[in-house]
Amino acid sequence: MEFAPVIGLEVHAQLKTRTKIFCSCSTRFGAPPNTHVCPVCLGMPGVLPVLNQAVVEYAMRMALATDCRIAPESRFARKNYFYPDLPKGYQISQYELPIAEHGQVNITRPDGTRKKIGITRIHMEEDAGKLIHDPDRSISMVDYNRTGVPLIEIVSEPDIESPEEAGAYLRQLRAVLRYLDISDGNMEEGSFRCDANVSVRPKESEQLGTRTELKNLNSFKFVEKALAYEINRQIRVISENGEVIQETRLWDMDKNRTFSMRGKEEAHDYRYFPDPDLVPLKIDEDWIARIQADLPELPDQRKDRFMAQFELPAYDADILTASRELADYFEACLRQVENPKLVSNWVMGNLLGLLNAEGKTIEETPISAEEMAELLKLVNDEVISGKIAKTVFDEMVASGKSPKAIVEEQGLVQVTDASAIEAVVDAVIDRCPNEVASYKAGKKKLLGFFVGQVMKETQGKANPQMVNQILKEKLG
Ligand code: ADP
Ligand code: MG
Ligand code: ZN
Repeated sequence: MEFAPVIGLEVHAQLKTRTKIFCSCSTRFGAPPNTHVCPVCLGMPGVLPVLNQAVVEYAMRMALATDCRIAPESRFARKNYFYPDLPKGYQISQYELPIAEHGQVNITRPDGTRKKIGITRIHMEEDAGKLIHDPDRSISMVDYNRTGVPLIEIVSEPDIESPEEAGAYLRQLRAVLRYLDISDGNMEEGSFRCDANVSVRPKESEQLGTRTELKNLNSFKFVEKALAYEINRQIRVISENGEVIQETRLWDMDKNRTFSMRGKEEAHDYRYFPDPDLVPLKIDEDWIARIQADLPELPDQRKDRFMAQFELPAYDADILTASRELADYFEACLRQVENPKLVSNWVMGNLLGLLNAEGKTIEETPISAEEMAELLKLVNDEVISGKIAKTVFDEMVASGKSPKAIVEEQGLVQVTDASAIEAVVDAVIDRCPNEVASYKAGKKKLLGFFVGQVMKETQGKANPQMVNQILKEKLG
């Protein structure tokens, strides 16, 4: 029997508001433990939460960016459970009436086509604190600085059909959050967390199988690996006439497998009920229109514009718009060098190649957009060849010098003087009578040999098109 995987993702994104969701404590990351706390976020008796308007507006931005319907009235609910990092004994979240529902996000498949992934709901909630375990002293400590930091949870429909699609969906969500400037989307630091629900079904059946929920996935790579493992495990269980149990499983990154953590709790275990301390949240059309008017250009829109305005292939546009900073970098270069494909090739190839090799992001680039543009202007104006430009690029990275300075110092200016090139071509032809004879006898592949000789003679500085043309003329 053949099986098809079915995946639905729950993403928690920390919002970048200055203060917490129900009090005015700072959300800043990395402060000494328990310094950003107050009676409200410590859950002292008798205190009252006050909703932070910026949290609502950030959630509205995400809702509109993902085509969700924003509820005219939503509610906060208490989700009851006991845990040391949850001082109130309940988490304030949204349950029956979330702020937004029925949205969608596009992912790009490897072949460039787009696929819609449904968004079931987006809701706001507060984060819990952080437990720090110290095995040396056999104790656990709790830091409440994160308690009450705002989160949005984004729940997808079970529309995702492979681990790769799950990865693409997460990257797209993160890109949207970053374009909107409402979350860092940093998975390693925990400001972007994903729980993955996965089941398998026989290919011919429409009915969904029993799902497991995977947690502890703190990188895109682990999400994809854990899903692939879990899909295989479930297929094995079913093929051996066993039954998949609905449960929560953790990813063990050392052993590359998932293992059972606990049976899946049901919603009624949390005894959700509307929080009596918070009034219903009403959002009118005017407010929605104001937020809508303020939305920036989003990744999909920018990608479409890059294809239309700069005539770039979908592949290039997809990579260049993956982050706002990279897309800004590209456009900054373009303002100096009006050759989109040249700039695209250099940014995607040499620049991203360098950054990836060094594990850096575009914000940490050693070559600014201005310097890159200066280099590419030299290529575009045919002052230097593309090949020489690669040497100059490496030298820029190594020495931090400007492209013009490097080209001048090392005398790298391209030779475009036809008579100078002709002189070298003549010398090469004189020197290689055997090859010339073979070429004339029909071995046309030898043209590459002659080009190589001329380039060697000119230290790679001769204009390659001119070399080709002059050689063809002279060799007949
Ligand atoms: P819970 O709140 O218990 O986690 P939800 O109904 O909110 O449950 O679903 C959580 C996620 O599980 C959603 O992203 C949904 O798309 C996904 N999901 C639901 N049923 C299945 C299934 N049979 N296989 C895979 N994913 C599923
Ligand atoms: Mg869940
Ligand atoms: Zn507080």
